Amino acid sequence: MPDTTAPQKFEFQAEIKQLLDIVIHSLYTEKEIFLRELVSNAADALEKLRHTQLTEKEIFDDRLDLEINVTTDDKAKTITIQDFGIGMTRAELVENLGTIAHSGSKAFLKALGEGGAKNANLIGQFGVGFYSAFMVAKTVKVYAHSWRAAEPGHVWTSDGSGSYEIEETAGQRRGAKIVIELKDDCGEFSQDWKAKEILERYSAFVSFPINLNGKRINTVQALWLRSKNEIKEEEYAEFYKFQAHAYDEPRLRLHFSADAPLSINALLFVPKENTEKLGFARTEASVALYCRKVLIDAKPKNLLPEWLRFLKGVVDSEDLPLNISRETMQDKALIEKLNKVITKRLLKFLDEEAKNRPDVYNEFYAEFGLFLKEGAAMDFTHKEQITKLLRFESSLTEKGKTTSLADYVSRLTGDLKEIYYLVGPNRNAIESGPYLEAFKARNLEVLFCYEPVDEYVMNNVREFEGKKLTAADHADVKLTELPKPEGALSDADTKALTTWIKDTLGDRVSEVKASDRLVDSPVLALNADKFTSPHMRRMMKAMNKDGAESPLRVNLEINPRHAVIKRLFENHVASPEKAKLVAEQLLDNALIGAGLLDDTTAMVARLNKLLETV
Ligand code: ADP
Ligand code: MG
Repeated sequence: MPDTTAPQKFEFQAEIKQLLDIVIHSLYTEKEIFLRELVSNAADALEKLRHTQLTEKEIFDDRLDLEINVTTDDKAKTITIQDFGIGMTRAELVENLGTIAHSGSKAFLKALGEGGAKNANLIGQFGVGFYSAFMVAKTVKVYAHSWRAAEPGHVWTSDGSGSYEIEETAGQRRGAKIVIELKDDCGEFSQDWKAKEILERYSAFVSFPINLNGKRINTVQALWLRSKNEIKEEEYAEFYKFQAHAYDEPRLRLHFSADAPLSINALLFVPKENTEKLGFARTEASVALYCRKVLIDAKPKNLLPEWLRFLKGVVDSEDLPLNISRETMQDKALIEKLNKVITKRLLKFLDEEAKNRPDVYNEFYAEFGLFLKEGAAMDFTHKEQITKLLRFESSLTEKGKTTSLADYVSRLTGDLKEIYYLVGPNRNAIESGPYLEAFKARNLEVLFCYEPVDEYVMNNVREFEGKKLTAADHADVKLTELPKPEGALSDADTKALTTWIKDTLGDRVSEVKASDRLVDSPVLALNADKFTSPHMRRMMKAMNKDGAESPLRVNLEINPRHAVIKRLFENHVASPEKAKLVAEQLLDNALIGAGLLDDTTAMVARLNKLLETV
């Protein structure tokens, strides 16, 4: 019989030496994750003990609480992670900590059989996490005592270079205590605040209590894994504030789980405020990805589409095929799948909110609608669903009330195939501009778009439920004939006048004609350029882009029923000088209506001249 009380030296398996080298030098990008790994192991050991307690009567130190204690000593430069879990026997120390990629957790699951394979509470699966301790350690000591009372306690010691020692030691509590003597350049991990920061980041939701130097760290539960009807509003709010580092209350919440095609537990929040709208920097995607309550990535890039970057919360998927360092997802297709499932679910949720709680939805929309517009314009996969969620005021709504495109379409009569919209700074500007009257006279609804991005969005969305989105101020728009009112210029006179105006204004207009749109206004400028609309032009100008300075060409339409036009007809023969000033002024008026008059000084000078003649 070998003397088991004397220290015994073991060489690590050759593969372990290689593995150690990889783990220490290249597997992990952040040294601090050693603490996540050791705490995860401690949690696994406690979970295994919990299981063992169900079947075994005699358990060593049975009164100990199932908890994890982390202590730091910044004088001695050590950090210690102790758990009262299942512990390890001498043979287990050799097998679990000295053999290549031997994961005791995997073996445990296997031993549990069918049911065990589904135990989602166990975190370990690769059998390398433990070695991450050597990234920061000069030496690692593992004091262990198995739950089996008959086994003595041991201490396992190694500096991670090639060998380890095991020695029997008396007075051990059940479980494992890992004492790390830190390398000189890793002294910070013996600071209480540093350990706190790391534990809070990665291990805040571990199911067993974690105490750091006697103080409880994880007070907030992994709510996403609990069932909805057990959770109180306040708990959700508390969770949101904790997880998102937020000070406001959440505005909307979606808590769901799915089994197919992937197991997902998600708890998502829409904050109260849209900080991008307030002028802060672009929001970073921050729905965190967890695997079995352990943080994998606080800001995973492609978990959700760009336009959902305002969401907060957690997505946990227990069957993520993580790479061995648990830092990235191995499978790109899988994260895409996750992305699809969550986005679809969220869109459905917003649609239901819009139906069931329209007031709440509208408030949400007022704050976060810009993101939906971005989605409608850029997210080809979900365009239709997102477009359904957009809201606009229209010529038929009251000020401040909105309509959806679906409702607009439901009001279309006959075989009308277009959804008309006008872009303008506000309701007043659109209603008093010249473009709306033709649509009003024909009982056609027009959506009012007040935001600079709207035009871009409408252009990209293009159509909805088979109806084309059409700018009401575009020259191509064809409207039905209205009965000719009394007292208009005759067709011949109108023709003479339009020809004269075209000659007089020259290159500033590409075409002058009698309007079928105008009812109350004398003139109207229509955009003759398909590619740069007035609003686009203004945007390009603001951004100093080419094209803004290209000569502006508009179609001018005149209203042969309007008093000003009738006077102009008389004057263009009787006093052509004055008529020329009036024609120029009318064009400028039309350009102002279209938001296209760049330079007003010439106009003011001319207007003064005109006033002299009154
Ligand atoms: P994994 O956790 O993926 O299984 P690790 O390298 O982190 O791999 O750990 C290897 C094995 O060592 C574990 O599976 C477990 O059997 C054992 N082990 C590690 N830490 C403890 C602990 N605190 N208590 C009991 N066993 C442990
Ligand atoms: Mg582990």
